[in-house]
Amino acid sequence: MLTTTHKEELKVLLGEDVEFDLSLSLYTSIRVGGLADAFISLKNAEELQKTILWARTRNIPFFILGKGSNTLFRDGGFRGLVLHLGKGFRNFALVKEEGKNVWVEAEGGVPTQQMVRWCVEQGFTGLERLAGVPGTLGGNVFMNAGTYLGEIGEIVEEVSICDGKGKLQTIKKEKLDFEYRKSNLAPSSVVLKVLLKLEKGDKEAIEKNVREVFEKRGLTQPVEIPNLGSVFKNAGKKKAWELIEEAGCKGVRVGQARVSEKHANFIINEGGATAKDVLILIGLIKDKVKESSGIVLETEIKVVGE
Ligand SMILES: Cc1cc2nc3c(=O)[nH]c(=O)nc-3n(C[C@H](O)[C@H](O)[C@H](O)COP(=O)(O)OP(=O)(O)OC[C@H]3O[C@@H](n4cnc5c(N)ncnc54)[C@H](O)[C@@H]3O)c2cc1C
Repeated sequence: MLTTTHKEELKVLLGEDVEFDLSLSLYTSIRVGGLADAFISLKNAEELQKTILWARTRNIPFFILGKGSNTLFRDGGFRGLVLHLGKGFRNFALVKEEGKNVWVEAEGGVPTQQMVRWCVEQGFTGLERLAGVPGTLGGNVFMNAGTYLGEIGEIVEEVSICDGKGKLQTIKKEKLDFEYRKSNLAPSSVVLKVLLKLEKGDKEAIEKNVREVFEKRGLTQPVEIPNLGSVFKNAGKKKAWELIEEAGCKGVRVGQARVSEKHANFIINEGGATAKDVLILIGLIKDKVKESSGIVLETEIKVVGE
């Protein structure tokens, strides 16, 4: 819990970039979550470093939030600082070309779909794998986001981070380890910049590919209702949604949280769902899937806070 002195110090340090007791439901795609003691929209790396050092010397926890498309904040909110890469972290540019290859540098707060659209316009291929995946590039790298077309880890050349001590460093791909929906980046490290290796391709073919992915998503996912994306990681030979369907959980509801009829690995907020509703539903799905298949599902989403 932040004291009055902490709040005063943060105001001096960050001015209007810090807000207190802000509802995290405004910053998560499922529209659920309690209050953040302090929500900080960071302008630049210097401000981030200052804030991390301030928090470290006072032993105050912090959490890095992108677009909140894979994060469930509990109803009690977050006791500490929620750090959000604000408008100062939304730049990206072509930095190198060599034959068919192109290298694009993007800041951690860039909305993924803005970058996908730009790649289509430029005729760059490689990022179609993230077509329709919400979030920021920083969140994508931390989670190693991907689709049936591939994962972001496969095209990352280097990542620039600010570590938990406020130190800036660049990690080359040889030192990065990406697994299914997981990277080896420490939870306290903030992805500031990503260097991606793409290729020049056929613009029309790229556009068609991206359009098809979007159409498929629209047909198979409840994109129009607040949700968190896939709640569970795939496990075993079957997809998580198949296991959940077979366990009879499709359409099951707890409070205002419900297992989507369109995609059984999605939990939707039908309006006013609480994190408690979502967590009870998650527990119920896990129990039913274990009972029917023997498989213990692991959550893909990050559950944070009190
Ligand atoms: C409708 C829908 C469809 C989805 N489809 C897919 C899909 O097909 N494939 C897929 O992989 N995912 C999918 N997701 C999940 C989600 O989009 C991805 O996990 C995405 O990478 C999360 O990005 P974010 O910025 O929203 O991260 P957040 O939810 O804000 O954060 C997720 C994690 O990343 C960390 N993080 C965020 N930003 C940074 C940063 N700059 N530096 C370090 N750590 C950071 C957070 O601390 C947290 O641990 C879907 C979600 C939704 C709602």
